[in-house]
Amino acid sequence: MGNSHQINHVLTFVIFLNPNVNTNTILIRKSPLIVSGLLKILFCTNFTYKQTSQPNYVELCHQHFNEIVCIVCIIILITNVKSRLLIECKILSPIEELIMDLMSTDDFKLWSNLPSGTRIDLHSHTKCSDGGLLPHELVDRAVNFQLDILAITDHDTVAALDIANDYIVEKNIPLKLVNGIEISTLWQGFEIHIVGLNIDKTSPDLLQLIASQQQARENRAVAMGDKLSKCGFDDIYDQAKSIAGEGSITRAHFAKVLVRQGHVSAMQKAFDKYIGKGQRAYVKPSWCSIEEAVAVIHAAGGSAVIAHPVRYGLSTKWVRRLVVHFKEQGGDALEIVLPQMGNEQRKLMLSFCLEYDLKASMGSDFHYPSKWSDLGRNLKMPEQATPVWSQW
Ligand code: AMP
Ligand code: MN
Ligand code: MN
Ligand code: MN
Repeated sequence: MGNSHQINHVLTFVIFLNPNVNTNTILIRKSPLIVSGLLKILFCTNFTYKQTSQPNYVELCHQHFNEIVCIVCIIILITNVKSRLLIECKILSPIEELIMDLMSTDDFKLWSNLPSGTRIDLHSHTKCSDGGLLPHELVDRAVNFQLDILAITDHDTVAALDIANDYIVEKNIPLKLVNGIEISTLWQGFEIHIVGLNIDKTSPDLLQLIASQQQARENRAVAMGDKLSKCGFDDIYDQAKSIAGEGSITRAHFAKVLVRQGHVSAMQKAFDKYIGKGQRAYVKPSWCSIEEAVAVIHAAGGSAVIAHPVRYGLSTKWVRRLVVHFKEQGGDALEIVLPQMGNEQRKLMLSFCLEYDLKASMGSDFHYPSKWSDLGRNLKMPEQATPVWSQW
């Protein structure tokens, strides 16, 4: 069925030019259906994709392959031009209606009614911030770990999202990518991370916040380099910057350099002795407020989630204060399922969700492969919780 595959590729490409159709993996997965639907129109028959037992249609396809591709391309290109004109009015052409119809089967019920056993991880990092894998390597790992849905949530950047999405589309990978970000905020002197999920990565408000957070990261990194020089460690900023490359520069990069140069034996020690809060080379960052992060995530159409509420070293009383404040700012969800989280912690976080009418999220906060945590491992949403994806 080489020809069908070729039609499939051509159509996928042409449909991607269509401004009314989202370029996502669902479309790729549905493209065989789209092809068979379009052929159905052309032949007014019951041609079915891969149905080789009807030799007359297959032969017809073989004989008229070029014509079929041409006709289909022309129809879709005309539709594209028309829909560019009509896009403001959101009127769908018959072809688009057909495409939407074909796509509106199980995948579109995805979020409201996920099949049991769907494997989801809504918190992960790539080399675009302090993760160890390139975006495409993370996607491959997610597939190897049999994840169905993965959110990439790099620190104060969305740079990995296009790269990962292009790779998924190009390789036709059966993984649903959720566009995410992890925004650093300052609240009562604590650095609180707010994850934004299902965001529009092109939102102007979001891009503006990212620019100012990146500036704050750069300023802090320079100041941290100065403080580390005073500790007797030279050249740390330059090396951290070179590891971070184009990506967000984080304290994890500094910790790595301090380990590499033998100043500390492990990354955690770098935080404990030098760059953690209150230590000699700590620099108070000028992150945005929780209020700003939530507002920007909402402006980008996403859901705002308090990342790893159990990892800030806060007492239960302070976590409650944080949750109350977050709720007052319009926050949506708490990340209540993380690997290495005890049962009591899970119960407490679930109780906060129920008490303050917040949704629940779950994620591994994967940075790089380690024996302690990995993508999608040990993640199960409690039945009483309302998952954050119920909003999508
Ligand atoms: P930054 O956002 O630049 O402050 O960097 C913080 C990142 O460093 C976190 O996202 C973690 O990936 C990593 N990290 C590792 N150990 C620690 C620690 N003890 N305290 C804070 N961050 C840590
Ligand atoms: Mn990190
Ligand atoms: Mn975090
Ligand atoms: Mn994280």
